Amino acid sequence: MIENRIRQARLAAGLTLAALGDKVGVSHTTIQKYEKGRLTPSSSQLLKLARACGVRTEYFFRTHTVDLLRPEFRKLSSFGKTAQEALKLKVLELVEKHVELLSAFPESPLLAFTPPSGLPNLISSLDEIENFSDLIRNQWQLGMNPIPHLIDTLEAIGLLIIEVHEDNPKFSGLAATARTEDGREFPVVAVSKLWPGDRQRFTLAHELGHLLLKGRLAEGLDEEKACDRFAGAFLAPQVAVIYLLGQQRQALEWKELYALKHEFGLSMAGWLQRAKQCGVINGETYLSLVKRFSARGWRKKEPGDPLQQEHPQLFAQLVYRALAEQYISDSKAAELLGIPMMRFHKERQLGVI
Ligand SMILES: [Zn+2]
Repeated sequence: MIENRIRQARLAAGLTLAALGDKVGVSHTTIQKYEKGRLTPSSSQLLKLARACGVRTEYFFRTHTVDLLRPEFRKLSSFGKTAQEALKLKVLELVEKHVELLSAFPESPLLAFTPPSGLPNLISSLDEIENFSDLIRNQWQLGMNPIPHLIDTLEAIGLLIIEVHEDNPKFSGLAATARTEDGREFPVVAVSKLWPGDRQRFTLAHELGHLLLKGRLAEGLDEEKACDRFAGAFLAPQVAVIYLLGQQRQALEWKELYALKHEFGLSMAGWLQRAKQCGVINGETYLSLVKRFSARGWRKKEPGDPLQQEHPQLFAQLVYRALAEQYISDSKAAELLGIPMMRFHKERQLGVI
């Protein structure tokens, strides 16, 4: 068991065998032997391993209490298998904290995620996704206005949203099902902390698309494309696009797209796509706009102020709720929040001591 945990801690810390060996002062083959169970590290070695991987030594003796099933990555293809496994482990660690917190409550304080009822079972074209997304917005009472805080909205419908530190820009997000030891399952969506708010929101909406569209797409419809279309439609519904841009346009001003980006939390490039998808501009106008957009280098980095990132609030809020009800101790609260006791005491008093 300990051998797997050493490997997991190393991967989660993003270290190669050699890099961990260097930090601990042994060769990479020794680390490999630890990981294969051919050699057992002494307790002082274990302490060094823990420090090098940024975990406590207890980590090596714990087994995972949660499984991540059917992970779907939103990433570039060059984000390889090892990187994916490391990422999955980071997410798993964070999901376990949530499960630990929730199990401290006598009754779960959260709603179970269920897709709205009455959704069509078969979607046979990308255009049908517009209607599909409107149905979902209606059922969740989101209206047709911008969604100000998407993470809040998704948390309120029972999705577990995890923000994950990942320096590799090839990774954007991940959707999976978490299964606990007692067989409960719930959806998890992880999003990289690296990107500006509009990109994060698009990733979140895309991953929501996976959860809702799975099993409903007609043969031959590409799931990734369908989820992208869903993300656009969910963030900027067709009726809003047409109301704000007009039925038909020959040209669009950059400043219009910039204002709409900040109003709806959808990138300027996303708005260009929405204009085409909703029939406001034709394919030719779209291509010429995209060409000019790219020529300015805006595909890589959009102009003006970036959209602020969103952060999940629910976890910290539930920690304090559990603390108030004495379901957890001070030290458990600090541990769950990942901060030292001193800082925890200060934050608990809102900095006033
Ligand atoms: Zn996807």
